[in-house]
Amino acid sequence: MYFTDAHEELRLHIRKFLEKEVQPNLEEWEEKTFPDSIFRRFGELGFLGLRYPPEYGGQGGDYFSAVVLSEEMARAGCGGLGMAVAVQAEMATPPVFRFGTEDQKRRWLVPAIQGEQIAALAITEPDAGSDVAGITTTVGNEFIVDGRKIFITNGARCQWALVVTKTDRERGHGGFNLLVIEKGTAGFEVTRTLQKLGMHSSDTAELLFEECHVPVGNLIGEEGEGFKHLMWELQGERMIAAAGAIAGAARVFEYTMDYAKNRQAFGQPISNFQVIKHKLVDMGTKIAAIQSFVYQTAKQWDQGEYPVREISQAKLLATQVACEVADDAIQILGGHGYMREFPVERAWRDARLARIGAGTDEIMKEIIAKSYGL
Ligand SMILES: Cc1cc2nc3c(=O)[nH]c(=O)nc-3n(C[C@H](O)[C@H](O)[C@H](O)COP(=O)(O)OP(=O)(O)OC[C@H]3O[C@@H](n4cnc5c(N)ncnc54)[C@H](O)[C@@H]3O)c2cc1C
Repeated sequence: MYFTDAHEELRLHIRKFLEKEVQPNLEEWEEKTFPDSIFRRFGELGFLGLRYPPEYGGQGGDYFSAVVLSEEMARAGCGGLGMAVAVQAEMATPPVFRFGTEDQKRRWLVPAIQGEQIAALAITEPDAGSDVAGITTTVGNEFIVDGRKIFITNGARCQWALVVTKTDRERGHGGFNLLVIEKGTAGFEVTRTLQKLGMHSSDTAELLFEECHVPVGNLIGEEGEGFKHLMWELQGERMIAAAGAIAGAARVFEYTMDYAKNRQAFGQPISNFQVIKHKLVDMGTKIAAIQSFVYQTAKQWDQGEYPVREISQAKLLATQVACEVADDAIQILGGHGYMREFPVERAWRDARLARIGAGTDEIMKEIIAKSYGL
C-alpha cells in the first residue's frame, strides 16, 4: 500500500550495501565508534539525500524513501550508525533545506548530502531537555553565542551544528534562533564525549559556546522564528524514530521466533509451550498494529499534512513496543539473551533510547493530551 517498486529496489540496494560494507564491522564499531569516512560512502551512494531535490545532489524521493533507509538500518542492527545518519539526513539538514537561503543550502546542505560534512543538531542543555523553551544558550545582538549543549549526537565529529539559541528571554517562543555554527569558530569547543547504555557506535558529546561570534549569514530561517522551525523539524524526527523503532522490533521478533522454534527444553522446542507461543503472538500482533499506524501517519506527513497528534502517538507507541519486544526476546532466549554474542542484548540497550530522545514518552503524552483539549 505504501511502497512502490522503486522503494523496494532502493531497499534491496541499501540492504546489500549494509550486508557487505557495514554489518561485518558493527562489532568493532561498537567498541571504537564508526569512522567518519562512512558518511562519505553513504553520500556517494545517495543515501544522505534520498528525499532532497537533485539540484542539491539529492535523489528526489518521497518520505517513504527515508522510511526505507531507517527500516533497513534498524533491520541490519545498526543502532548507533542509524542514529547518526538520521541526525544528518532527518534532523540537522531539513531546517537548512526548508528555511535556509540558496547560499546556505550550497554551503551546508550540499556537502552534508555528499557526506563531505557531518552535521549535528544541538537543542538539549544540561538544565533543559524536555522543556525546550527553557534553554539558556543566548545570542546577543551581533550573534555572540554563550551556552552549553549536552547529549549531542555527532557532536564530536561534526563539521557544523545547527544550534538552537534564544535571543531574549522576554520574547518567549518568539525569541528563538537556529544558527549553523561551524567547528573551528572561536569559542566553540567539544568539552567531552559521553559513555552511554547503548548506541555505542555513535558519538554523544557535550558542546560549549563561549563568546562565540557567529556571522549573521548563519541564521537559518527568520529571526525569532526558531521555535516554530524546530517544532516542524521534530515532527519528521519523531516519524523516522517510530519507523526505525518498529523495524528494529520486527527484526528482534523474527530472530526470537526462529530461536524459539529451535531451542529445545524438556524434549521439545520452547515454542511449543503455550506461554512462549502466546508471548510471540503478542509481540507479532503489537508490531503489526503499530506498523500500520506508523505507515498511515508517514503517508499523511508525506502528503504535506501536519498530523502532530498522530506522529506523537506513533512515536510513543512504536518506541514502547520496541522496548517491550526486546525485553520479551531476552526472556525467551533466557541466559543466551543476556549475552553479548546474541543480538537481542544490544537491541534491548539500543531500543531504550527511543523512549527518551526526540521527546520522551511523557512529553508525547502531554502533546497528545493537548490535542484532545485536556
Ligand atoms: C544517546 C542520546 C542522544 C541524544 N542526541 C541528541 C541530539 O543529537 N541533539 C539534542 O539536542 N539532544 C539529544 N539528546 C537529548 C534528548 O533529546 C533529551 O535527553 C530528551 O529530550 C529529554 O531531556 P532531558 O534528558 O533533559 O530530560 P528531562 O527534561 O530532565 O526529563 C526528565 C524526566 O522528566 C519528565 N518530564 C519532563 N518534563 C515533563 C512534563 N512536563 N510532564 C511530565 N514529565 C516530564 C521526562 O519525561 C523524563 O522522564 C540525546 C539523548 C541521548 C540519551
